[in-house]
Formats: sequence, structure tokens, C-alpha cells
Amino acid sequence: MALLVQKFGGTSVGTTERIEAVADKVCRFREDGHEVVVVVSAMSGETNRLIALANDIMDEPVPREMDVLVSTGEQVTIALLSMALQKRGCDARSYTGSQVRILTDSSHTKARIRQIDEQRMREDLDAGRVVVVAGFQGMDDKGNITTLGRGGSDTTAVALAAALKADECQIYTDVDGVYTTDPRVVDSARRLQRITFEEMLEMASLGSKVLQIRAVEFAGKYNVPLRVLSSFQEGEGTLITFEDENAMEQPVVSGIAFNRDEAKLTISGVPDTPGNALRILKPVSDANIEVDMIVQNVGEDNKTAFTFTVHRNDFKRAQDVLLGIAADLGAGKVGGDSKIAKVSIVGVGMRSHAGVATKMFEALSNEGINIQMISTSEIKISVVIDEKYLELAVRALHSVFELDNAGVEEGA
Ligand code: ADP
Ligand code: ASP
Ligand code: MG
Repeated sequence: MALLVQKFGGTSVGTTERIEAVADKVCRFREDGHEVVVVVSAMSGETNRLIALANDIMDEPVPREMDVLVSTGEQVTIALLSMALQKRGCDARSYTGSQVRILTDSSHTKARIRQIDEQRMREDLDAGRVVVVAGFQGMDDKGNITTLGRGGSDTTAVALAAALKADECQIYTDVDGVYTTDPRVVDSARRLQRITFEEMLEMASLGSKVLQIRAVEFAGKYNVPLRVLSSFQEGEGTLITFEDENAMEQPVVSGIAFNRDEAKLTISGVPDTPGNALRILKPVSDANIEVDMIVQNVGEDNKTAFTFTVHRNDFKRAQDVLLGIAADLGAGKVGGDSKIAKVSIVGVGMRSHAGVATKMFEALSNEGINIQMISTSEIKISVVIDEKYLELAVRALHSVFELDNAGVEEGA
């Protein structure tokens, strides 16, 4: 008999019918003798609806109040699910993040979990109850409500699993596992039976929103067995594993991630002197804007072109920062493009294979897709391209790296 933490995402609790279906599923696990802690998200669309309400009042609401607002979505679903469980004769109790003392730092809207007091959950589990916990939220040391960033219920689930030393953390969602790429974009995407933590971390950080990146980090750090499954159909899902030395040879590329949320800025004609990268990026970081990819090149005229990407929501602000410093830097021009996309190939097998980048660039060139920026690490290659070619690029790469469904053995 196992201790399971089961997380159900927004679509899985999107209507009262779906909440009842989740209750059926959880009851079956209880009847099989397992101890269950359930983490739920808000009903799908609810968090966006709440954010839109705040934006009706003001453009940049105070983060503390945002957290008070958006955390309400999960309070609705914990209560409804507990009622549905009780209706089935399955004893259950709902708790908000602060009630189970999920202590976080005070970085509102992107708080990090510091500590969890699992005592209260244990008492309920020992009494034979299902514990239903609101995902995405916690409390700082002054008792303020905090939230963990979009998609944060995944992280709540993994953190509870780590604190309770659960046998498995199961993330139930609207797809039946982690695919070679988003199955909503590429029909021939294939479910992976297993993926390594390292690959999953790259996939998540490069745009595959099936798991929140913090959840994967946390699971890797605390050794939490993590599985992604469908809440709508039975199946094994995808297990996130540590690299298995004895596994069959890894495919070179395991998956393709993409991200449409970025925008690109360029400041050109900057004299090539020490300290300019700092002079450009310090004001950007002081404005609390996160920078992702950076490319700098020096021309024959000893002037640099400095290009970087930021989240699309920060594009206008970043452009204003650059316009503000351009004259001081002696720069010629500030340019930008918010219609870009980043496509990445990910695979631990890349470590031991040469020619992966060439194959990627050839596939894009064959489709007439221009590469605007490139960045690489040991197990990934990312390119920035025009947003309108994103789906074409993902399909071409999916096919050239033999990830398509037809005729390929599943998993590694
Ligand atoms: P939930 O509301 O359950 O947290 P999410 O919408 O956050 O669900 O995550 C599930 C979605 O992730 C899927 O519907 C799918 O479109 C998307 N997705 C992106 N990349 C992948 C991938 N590689 N494998 C599976 N799903 C992916
Ligand atoms: N409800 C939150 C969101 O939409 C957290 C989550 O669903 O994981 O981001
Ligand atoms: Mg999610």
C-alpha cells in the first residue's frame, strides 16, 4: 500500500462533473488501500479570469493583493472535491496552503517554498482521510498569502510528496504523459514512457508547460518519483527518471520544446569597449526584467550589435530602457521584434553525438526558415526564428530526428 500525492490540473477540475470524476478516481485508490493526498488547481480559466479582473482595476496591481486574489481559485476546488469525496463515503478534508503551513519566502506571485509542516496531513492520513490541499499557494513568515507562479500547483504536489516521503507524485492532466513535443501542435508526437529529470528540466524551461520547471527541479533535488498521467483515461503515463546507465542507447534527441512568449531587442553601433554588456544589461535587470538568450557580435568597424530576448510582456519596458541609455552608450540604433519564437531540441544523447546542430540547421534551411539567434548547452540547441514558421519548424525537426509516431519504438 502506497502513499500517493495526486495533483489534478485546471481542465481535470474544470466543471463539477469533472470534479466528480476525480472523486471517483481518488476513491478507487483509497479502496485499493492507498493513502492519498490530493492537490488541485483552480478550475480551468479561473486564474486568468481573476488576473483580468485585477487588470480592469489597474495595469500593475500590487503583488501582495494579486496573491490574495488569485489564490481564491484553488480554495473553490478543494472544497468542491472534498464534498464530492464525502458524498462517496470517502472521508476527506480540504486545506488551504497556509492551513497546512506551506511556508514560502515573501516574493509575491513567484514565491519559493521554504518549509512544509507535514504533521497535520499525517494526522488526517492516520485517521483514514484523504487530504485535499490547494495548489499554487503558501504563506510567508508574516502570514501573508503567497503564490508560486503560473502552473505552481505542480510544485505544491512535488513539495508535499517530498515532505511526506510519498511513494509517487502523480501529475494528472489533459494529456496522457510527456510527449516528444506538444501533441496539440504535432499530431505525430509520441508519448515517452520515460524521460530523464535533466531532459524534463530543459523541456520545461524551454517552453513545454506540461510541468512547471520548479516542480521538476524540486523532484530532482529531493528524489521524488514523478509521473505525468491523464485524468481522463487509464495508462502508465510518463515516468521522470534519473539517467539509467544500463538503459538502451538513448535517442540523440528526446523532445522538442518551443516558446512563443519571448521578444527580441537589439542595440547596435555600440563602441566595442569593456563594460558595455554591463552598461546595457544592468538597467534592464534593475527594471526587474529577466533576460534569456544573449548574442553579441563585433563588426569590422569595431562596433558591437548586442541582441537579447525577454518575455514578451516586458518587451515595451525593455525597449524604453534601451532607448534611455542608447545616447550615453554612443549607440546607433535600438531595434526589436516581438514576433519571434524559440525552438529547442533536447536530448541527453546529444552529449555523445556530433553533427546534431548541422542536422538541425539543415532541416530548417530545407524549409527556408531563417535562424536569427542560436544558443547551445550540453543537452540542448535553441534557435530563434520568425514566429510564423514555428509550427513548420517543429514538425520538420520532429521528423528529421525520427521522433514521429510511425514505426519507432516508444521510450528510451
Ligand atoms: P494542467 O492544467 O493539468 O496543469 P497544463 O495545461 O499546464 O495542464 O499542461 C498540459 C498541457 O501541456 C497539454 O495540454 C499540452 O498541450 C501541453 N504540452 C506542451 N508540451 C508538451 C509535451 N512535450 N508533452 C505533453 N504535453 C505538452
Ligand atoms: N491555477 C494556477 C495557474 O493557473 C496554478 C496551476 O494551475 O498550477 O497558473
Ligand atoms: Mg499545469
